Amino acid sequence: MSPRSNPTRHLQKLLGPEQVRTDHESRYTASMDNLRYSILPEAVLFPADEEAVATILRMANDTGQPVTPRGAGSATTGATSPVQGGWVLDLSGWKQLHVDPLSRMAYCQPGVVLSRLDEVASIHGLLYAPDPGSARYATVGGTIATNAGGLRGAKYGVTRDYVQALEGFLPTGEFVRWGADLRKFAAGFNLRDLWIGSEGTLGVITGAVLRLLPRPLTRKSCLAVFPGHREALLAVQQILQSGLEPAAMEFLDAQTLHCTLTFWQEKEASLLRHLPPCLQAAPATAAVLLIEFDGSEEATATDLRTVTGLLQDAAIGFATAANGNERESLWKIRRSCSQAMFTLGPRKLNEDVVVPLRKEAALLDFLEELGKETGLPTPTFGHAADGNFHAHLMFDDADEEASRRAAEGVDALMRKVIELGGAISGEHGIGMAKSPYLRLQHGDAEIRAMQAVKSALDPANILNPGKIWTSCEVHRLPRETVRLPWDH
Ligand SMILES: Cc1cc2nc3c(=O)[nH]c(=O)nc-3n(C[C@H](O)[C@H](O)[C@H](O)COP(=O)(O)OP(=O)(O)OC[C@H]3O[C@@H](n4cnc5c(N)ncnc54)[C@H](O)[C@@H]3O)c2cc1C
Repeated sequence: MSPRSNPTRHLQKLLGPEQVRTDHESRYTASMDNLRYSILPEAVLFPADEEAVATILRMANDTGQPVTPRGAGSATTGATSPVQGGWVLDLSGWKQLHVDPLSRMAYCQPGVVLSRLDEVASIHGLLYAPDPGSARYATVGGTIATNAGGLRGAKYGVTRDYVQALEGFLPTGEFVRWGADLRKFAAGFNLRDLWIGSEGTLGVITGAVLRLLPRPLTRKSCLAVFPGHREALLAVQQILQSGLEPAAMEFLDAQTLHCTLTFWQEKEASLLRHLPPCLQAAPATAAVLLIEFDGSEEATATDLRTVTGLLQDAAIGFATAANGNERESLWKIRRSCSQAMFTLGPRKLNEDVVVPLRKEAALLDFLEELGKETGLPTPTFGHAADGNFHAHLMFDDADEEASRRAAEGVDALMRKVIELGGAISGEHGIGMAKSPYLRLQHGDAEIRAMQAVKSALDPANILNPGKIWTSCEVHRLPRETVRLPWDH
């Protein structure tokens, strides 16, 4: 039997059934990410070592078999769905981790989960700063491949800012190392940064050296309620111009706030008892800022006093978290926003758009109008210090007319974002869901340059094909009703 006639069977003979699984359960689990668009792969591969990764990629090249790298599968864009079938290369079991407190670097295999990395860093008094809402599930490999952001991005930036060096395999199966575990490196092209955010299309990451920071001693959180989104977003500008540097500054519009409070009311009303009364009594139009400072006890206390003074006129409600419980309850509210949206409709189109800081209010004005025009809820929350908002259109996909209005609404949103000088994605990437809008963001020359890089590194187009450049109608894709690990 030649590899070409049945590559999966051939690979199974070479690597054994433990590394090459073809049972339905393994294939179904690997068939989707958080977009829940399921395409069954032919096999799910759990390579035991680097030699196995090289073997897999070399055989995929010879036979034209698509290969989709996979971490936790928490991407929201379909980036991890094996849309052209073939093999899913699951590296979530690669979990070795070592922290060097002298160089403040972490040596990680790609399957290390972010919360574990931060936990081990904390033993050495260090911090791994990127903290996506999925940190308890998302892996080092997946977060590098999507350049994930998070709540602490206001002060600490995104994953790219912490990747010192990468190693892994080109789609052709050749081993490469980009950068080094050195504090400086200027030898040759920086292809490390090309891999970051390339959504598993340019290489398979099998090792990463990540930068760690001294762990802040204290965190202090507060919450401010404003009459509406304009007042809240004006306050964001005042805070940023005052010289304060919040670690996190999260915005919740009125729709988000109220659906999240309703969600908790129904799920676990006791949580609401830990929330400040000003939040629960917020009027129907109110928008909220959740702000956190970190640093020394003295510095955070000063920051909190300064922000209290700054906001005292504009805010109609203000509260600081007096203890760990109150702080945790506040951030629990923020972390549950995404799931709470489903109280407004069974399906959502979720965009993570970015606008210049001065255009934040214009974006929220637009979304309010869009809600009226489409007749659909448009709850929006996000990272206000970065201009990065998670804007949603909620609809019932059993209703053809509502689905059409949702799709047109997203199209209008993306055009508006570009008109405002923004970006169609700030942290989730393109995958399948944003692919129809890539050409709004990039001109022909830019797209050709990206495709030329792809062809140079992946001449047989085997690595995560069908993403980024292949446009799809995401609102028409069927969505599995399966429960995923991060669903509460
Ligand atoms: C509840 C929830 C909250 C979220 N919050 C945030 C947030 O705050 N910020 C944010 O940015 N995102 C967020 N996300 C999205 C998601 O968690 C991130 O995109 C994360 O980076 C994906 O990590 P993963 O391990 O699940 O990767 P996967 O979904 O498995 O893979 C993501 C992409 O990376 C590629 N890939 C995976 N491993 C490798 C590897 N070893 N080598 C090469 N390519 C690889 C895949 O092919 C795919 O294209 C959230 C998702 C959920 C479900």
